[in-house]
Amino acid sequence: MFDTLSDRLSGIFTKLRGKGRLTDADVDATAREIRLALLEADVALPVVKAFIHAVKTRARGAEVSQALNPAQQIIKIVHDELVGVLGGEARRLQFAKHPPTVIMLAGLQGAGKTTFAGKLAGLLKGQGHQPLLVACDLQRPNAVNQLQVVGERVGVEVYAPQPGSGVGDPVQVARDSVAHATRAARDIVIVDTAGRLGIDGEMMAQAAAIRDAVEPDETLFVIDAMVGQDAVATAEAFRDGVGITGVVLSKLDGDARGGAALSVRHVTGQPIMYASTGEKLTDVDVFHPERMASRILGMGDMLTLIEQAEQAFDADQKEKMAAKLLGGEQFTLEDFLDQLTAVRRMGPIANVLGMLPGMNQMKDQLAELDDSHFDRITAIIRSMTPAERTTPKIINGSRRVRIANGSGVTVMEVNQLLNRFGQAQKMMKQMGGMMGLPGSRRKAT
Ligand code: GDP
Repeated sequence: MFDTLSDRLSGIFTKLRGKGRLTDADVDATAREIRLALLEADVALPVVKAFIHAVKTRARGAEVSQALNPAQQIIKIVHDELVGVLGGEARRLQFAKHPPTVIMLAGLQGAGKTTFAGKLAGLLKGQGHQPLLVACDLQRPNAVNQLQVVGERVGVEVYAPQPGSGVGDPVQVARDSVAHATRAARDIVIVDTAGRLGIDGEMMAQAAAIRDAVEPDETLFVIDAMVGQDAVATAEAFRDGVGITGVVLSKLDGDARGGAALSVRHVTGQPIMYASTGEKLTDVDVFHPERMASRILGMGDMLTLIEQAEQAFDADQKEKMAAKLLGGEQFTLEDFLDQLTAVRRMGPIANVLGMLPGMNQMKDQLAELDDSHFDRITAIIRSMTPAERTTPKIINGSRRVRIANGSGVTVMEVNQLLNRFGQAQKMMKQMGGMMGLPGSRRKAT
């Protein structure tokens, strides 16, 4: 996702490293390079101009903290501007005061509307809502069927005209669906509409007629991020023809250059609300401008990682760990095993590490990191006795052979683990020292 832009920006920042002070010439040169990087990422020109103007003005002004070095100052400014361009605060769905809330999806054919309809229905169902999916794309052969498949997979009812019923008017279907939702106590109606390959007067008129029939609380425009800033012209047409209240970026998992994401807010004036990141129905996230900006800058998506970690490590476990470290107690292989298990719960290890700051530059190496390595470490620790896990010092040569045989690895791997663990243990002690608050009950070690 936005890899080229990330690489270009990190190259620009690297050049600034080691500079003691930023001259006006430095600011100009850096701004020029950022401008090129944005243009290369297919960001719309008015957006690039406004961005560069802001970066220059702020980098020359005295507003940045003097505590930051020049590279950090520029990174901070670019980060703030990216957050602004991406929309500032995340915006959540607005629900109707009197249900059902009607959400209409619009966009070109192939943008990812039907897929997103299923994803959104799944998300909302997971939050305790009772959504209803409505098939109003009666033009594309198979569109109704596709929505039915998606609905079945997320376990959400799909409202569609009966085959052979003669109902061929999507406006009628939309209107009837809201009445059905009220009867069936569904609190959210998600209307999937027809798209064309290009902007088309008839399609726009139909979307507007559906809008008038159901008076949506939200009209979300689904945009294929791979299309770049061309998609932005489409967004403008939908904004003017139908009126949109939010944007969904789809296919962000593909080789998107970033043009659509970075332009669409500025051009339409509407927030990006969701990011669709794959073909699976769970590949969807609420869009957080701040996190996306950090990700583009290769600072890693710390917030997402922290959230995932919070889910993976239960509160008890975290408290136990903190108490141990603060108390200056030994970090044992048993603790290590607990943590490994929790980290593995967070997903494939390369993804987890990829979210850490600086790791973006190591993408290739990370891709090689395979989860089986972590599973082998787990197997080695599981082959140890409780005494060995608490006091690894007692693990002599014959014990090492026994552990290797028990876990199906070589003695060398057992040695490596024990060496690394020794180092980690030392680091943990230092960290414990750093975390110690004045007056804490930390023992001298
Ligand atoms: P619609 O015509 O707007 O309803 O688009 P569809 O939902 O049918 O999607 C068109 C194609 O894009 C399908 O093959 C989907 O599987 C695929 N697709 C949709 N969303 C995503 C996404 O976020 N990532 C990827 N990789 N593919 C997607």
